[in-house]
Amino acid sequence: MIEDQLRSSTEAEVAAELRRRPAFVMVSHVKPDGDTLGAGLALGLALKRLGKRVAYFNQDPVPRNLRFLPDAELVSREIPSDFPPDALYVFGDMSDPARAGEFLPAVDRANMLDIDHHLGNKHFGALNFVIPSECSTGTAVMRILREMGTPIDAKIATCILTTIMTDTGGFMHSNTSPGALELSAELMRAGADKEQITEEIFGNKRVVATRLLGRIVDEMQFAHDGKYCYSYVDEAMLAQTGADGEDTEDMVNVLRAQEGVDVAALFKSYDGEIRVSLRSSGRVNVQAAAARLGGGGHFRASGLTLHGSLTEAFAAVDAALCAEGL
Ligand code: 5GP
Ligand code: MN
Repeated sequence: MIEDQLRSSTEAEVAAELRRRPAFVMVSHVKPDGDTLGAGLALGLALKRLGKRVAYFNQDPVPRNLRFLPDAELVSREIPSDFPPDALYVFGDMSDPARAGEFLPAVDRANMLDIDHHLGNKHFGALNFVIPSECSTGTAVMRILREMGTPIDAKIATCILTTIMTDTGGFMHSNTSPGALELSAELMRAGADKEQITEEIFGNKRVVATRLLGRIVDEMQFAHDGKYCYSYVDEAMLAQTGADGEDTEDMVNVLRAQEGVDVAALFKSYDGEIRVSLRSSGRVNVQAAAARLGGGGHFRASGLTLHGSLTEAFAAVDAALCAEGL
């Protein structure tokens, strides 16, 4: 690909485009997390302050533990029918627009703004504000808000701090830079309630979720001299425990945290597909492994979707990880 095609847009270019457009659709990815939602909600709040119209699209419901986010109740699968044709669709936290799912109506590239921090982002928008060094898409949004001179109130601060705490795993992952901590302090001073965010995202687990975690741990397997740990969730395990897909968020981290494990995988086999979450301790690039199978993400956290049997999925992921040096 030509170098220039991968040039990130500047803050000034993005801010000029945002000022020029009358209406916006904030698009977040399927099975949304705190980063994709928090980034879109924060930018939407800032744009509404400027008198712009803003809608929020997600094909899935907002997860239970993110309903505390300001304006989360406005996120929906419907886009208002009277939205103007020159509305800008802001895709947040996705390397590929297909991650928005199948329910988003077709959008012209000219009306797409791509804001992201993933490796391998396809620069699919008319403007692409893609900063892989940012710990979250929300902190990339923060750079745009500073450019626009947006006052950071408690609501915006809560959204952005949620993106940071989600993507740094509560300030634990390697993307927890000094800058991320400084910005978090600033957001707390602006009114973001870190305790509430911690409780909503990392506490508050449903008992059925913990029972499901028990089943996942029961099924845990090790390979490659203990460097690879994997397990699965299937329909039967959900039915036995009463848990659902939302409850599986983050459970792969328990597998990754086992002594001697370099890579962990959790295979989620329900709803007619197998979604695989990969996590790395830093030696193996799981973004590259996921990309071999049509997925993507970050060096240490990635995902992909497969169809077929669990046994086939185990073999395909094992091969992709081995090709990346597991
Ligand atoms: P998770 O395992 O939490 O679902 O996802 C981990 C990371 O991989 C996130 O950054 C997420 O956006 C990315 N990711 C998950 N699934 C996919 C996928 O199917 N395609 C791509 N491109 N990225 C994914
Ligand atoms: Mn993210």
